[in-house]
Amino acid sequence: MATPAPQSDDWDESQLLDNLRKLDELHRRLINLRTVIPTILYPLHAQYSTPTDLFHDFASRAASCSDDIAKFTTMYVHSSSILSHAERSRERNRDGIPRLKGKDMFLPDEEVAVAAVPPSLPPNANEEVKKEKEKVAGESEKQHQGLTLYEKQLRASFPETVEVEVESVVGEVRGRDGVEIVDVALSGKVDVRAWVVRLPQPVGLEVRVERETGGRWSVAGVRSVRGGEQSPTQVAIAGALERGVKVLESSGKFVLEMVTAYRTLYTEKCAKCGKIVKGGGAGTVNMPVVRKWEMEGWKALHEDCV
Ligand SMILES: [Zn+2]
Repeated sequence: MATPAPQSDDWDESQLLDNLRKLDELHRRLINLRTVIPTILYPLHAQYSTPTDLFHDFASRAASCSDDIAKFTTMYVHSSSILSHAERSRERNRDGIPRLKGKDMFLPDEEVAVAAVPPSLPPNANEEVKKEKEKVAGESEKQHQGLTLYEKQLRASFPETVEVEVESVVGEVRGRDGVEIVDVALSGKVDVRAWVVRLPQPVGLEVRVERETGGRWSVAGVRSVRGGEQSPTQVAIAGALERGVKVLESSGKFVLEMVTAYRTLYTEKCAKCGKIVKGGGAGTVNMPVVRKWEMEGWKALHEDCV
């Protein structure tokens, strides 16, 4: 904890990521402390060749556990500024931030329950697609990685739109959860329309979305609302959006929903590994930059967890 905690309440991306990493480490240590009592009690029911062996094992276990507790306590004390920052942030905007109780404790690798039946089906979904969706919902991730099935599922969830519906598609997402969508005036181009989708802080991203008259939607850029150089996370998001949009580039609803799914960049844990920040190489931060549509909504994933 050599770096002093930032003083201002207005953290930039690197400060947010740095502090998220610290909280992740704190959480990991807290989870490890769950095994303290079983670890210390183990010698009481294990077989040792001599009482001296028992004593030595017991003593070393007690010392190691007390070391773990001391390290956690130190780290917790040093994290107080991060926790009070979170507290103040929640005071300012409580929307969508539940306060967890002791009984809500979860482990990082806990499985996310999968809804057996999709909550709603588009009006034009036929019986075959419905059956397929129900089948997919019950299967594990490994069993439905095939793009064809994913495409079918997407097409059923995001029916393709026609030209006249563009305004209503944009209007549906505009303003939801603080998402702004600004029309971009393109001089001299009559066959392309463009919008900037602005995701509110702390994500603070601007994503440019374009649509050709022919019906093809695309993502033309991801940058910070504050400007400046593209961060590695933003570059990764741009890549993930580009790949994702290619799967169903004819549906503006899908494209806009996928872009706005990045509102949870700093809060949604990876659906596979259960972490927000995953260890990357030196100096890199691995965030869940991929958004994948599943029956129950958008799932966040790390690139190497897809
Ligand atoms: Zn992951």
